[in-house]
Amino acid sequence: MVQAAVNIPVSHPKDILSSVFGYSDFRGMQADIITTVMNGQSCCVLMPTGSGKSLCYQIPAICRTGTGIVISPLIALMQDQIAALKECGVRAETLNSSLIGRDYYRIMDDLKAGMLDLLYIAPERAMNEEFLAILDEIDLSLLAIDEAHCISQWGHDFRPDYMALSALRKRYEDIPCIAVTATADEPTRKDILGKLHLDKLFTGSVDRPNITYHVQIKDNPKAQLKQFLKSRPNGESGIVYCLSRRKVEETAQFLCDEGYKALPYHAGLDKDIRATNQDRFLKEDNIIIVATVAFGMGINKPDVRFVCHMDLPKNIEAYYQETGRAGRDGLPSVAWMVYGLQDVALQRQMLESSDASENQKRIERQKLDSLLGYCEAGGCRRQVLLRYFDDECEPCNNCDTCLTPPKMIDGTIPAQKILSCIYRTEQLFGAAYIIDVLLGKETDRIKKFKHNQLSTWGIGKEYTKQEWNGIIRQLVAKNFIRVDMANHGGLKITPDGMALMTGKTTTELREDRKMKFSSSKQRREKPTATIENDQDAKLFEYLKILRQGLAKSQKIAPYMVFHDKTLVDMSITRPDTLEKMSEISGVGQAKLDKYGEIFLETISEYTS
Ligand code: ADP
Ligand code: ZN
Repeated sequence: MVQAAVNIPVSHPKDILSSVFGYSDFRGMQADIITTVMNGQSCCVLMPTGSGKSLCYQIPAICRTGTGIVISPLIALMQDQIAALKECGVRAETLNSSLIGRDYYRIMDDLKAGMLDLLYIAPERAMNEEFLAILDEIDLSLLAIDEAHCISQWGHDFRPDYMALSALRKRYEDIPCIAVTATADEPTRKDILGKLHLDKLFTGSVDRPNITYHVQIKDNPKAQLKQFLKSRPNGESGIVYCLSRRKVEETAQFLCDEGYKALPYHAGLDKDIRATNQDRFLKEDNIIIVATVAFGMGINKPDVRFVCHMDLPKNIEAYYQETGRAGRDGLPSVAWMVYGLQDVALQRQMLESSDASENQKRIERQKLDSLLGYCEAGGCRRQVLLRYFDDECEPCNNCDTCLTPPKMIDGTIPAQKILSCIYRTEQLFGAAYIIDVLLGKETDRIKKFKHNQLSTWGIGKEYTKQEWNGIIRQLVAKNFIRVDMANHGGLKITPDGMALMTGKTTTELREDRKMKFSSSKQRREKPTATIENDQDAKLFEYLKILRQGLAKSQKIAPYMVFHDKTLVDMSITRPDTLEKMSEISGVGQAKLDKYGEIFLETISEYTS
């Protein structure tokens, strides 16, 4: 290895932060992490999406001599990061199979000549001997591993290609290695530290304070989605997740019919269509992408304002990762979900019918139960989420249960009514039938089975059908009742349910109500929550149009020109000199040179 033992910094991290990225201060643990890497030590960084992990390796790579190698699992993500870095004047490139010959050789030449600050590669390239031989010959500033949880079989997204990274790390053990991820539970963390021989672990709170959490009971999901979208200001981009491809298509069509710019995305679509839709989502404002979970990993769009779930995800990790795609830029954003009894039944069925080992299934069952606990939470949802990741917070006042606390009632009696009704009908019938019996209906089926002669017939007239549905759903979520999918969705009583039925335990239930979103005019007129006055809001809209044009002509995403946050600051402070412009967060030297004048002009035209 030709790597020098001591790497002398050519510039100071804080200077790079302001001159290149246009930010005045490091956030959270960034300064500590960067110092660690600058000192040649290795570390793992576990911080939530949007907390600024990328800067933790980008800045040391720029400051230290040599090229920083970044391993990232997805080409789209790399290309975005590189385009954004280039806008800031950083010399970053990627080598991937989509490069045409000329570009490939140019990048190779630059790499060999030490002209690159950062080189992004996919993990499989780390196994290519020819490529490694070149790395052996040049100065390396650091090795950064993005989405590091992919290295662990314990993680939720294990990638076999990542296994090669242990060897890569060993080969360049003298240079600092920094592994970053947003989601890794305890075993996964240990695995990352062990496999990559890292010295330190930095963990930030997993909280995403700018995301508001909402869960609604699924009633008429499309109408609920429509109502939700109506409550949002115009011009926002967001993601709507559905479980199946068919539902993705249907929902996208529905939104288009309703006048939204909505695009479908799922693995069954033609590759070109998928790429186009993803690209439009990244590069245009005001687009809703309707997708299966195939969409998202590696989507680095900072201004996703909402993430909707039309179906229940698999577990809290998946939910947290998917909702975490909202609000990377730190501005207020919403995670919204509808869920119902059918979702629970479906997820349980998918779990039971999978090929997983019995042990794995047991873990998956527990994970699903935790998610149901979240959905049915009577207290702060953020607390439920954070506790799941061994973190904590005070009631947040920024989730639906904090904002409109549900009423909790002693649910023992209604639960007993349901349980005895299930018991008397021999645990053979589904929710709809049980509710008919409770309500004392005389349907043909009920008469056929003579269930109108049961003592439990008609004992539940105090609640409506919908309310009984809600109670059944909560009892399923709390594991008093199980939905037997192998048996046409028949409800079965669990041992806990037996104890409840016979009065050995009690239970609290949440009183369901339909949650309403304030679609107040005031909110609709504000482009973001931080702009308070209409004039500033209008200027913000102007600047967005200017930005869209500049981005389009260069075929880059608008946020690569300036983030929403930067435009918001410009709209409020209205700089009238280049110097004042340079003080705005997100305006580094390269962007000032490139865009400063034109934004100044627009602001002054608007202001005069
Ligand atoms: P992560 O990789 O953790 O998801 P990113 O590195 O993409 O997060 O950063 C999220 C956003 O925060 C980016 O828009 C980035 O430019 C911004 N950011 C990062 N560090 C700072 C900072 N010190 N000051 C202001 N903005 C920052
Ligand atoms: Zn809360």
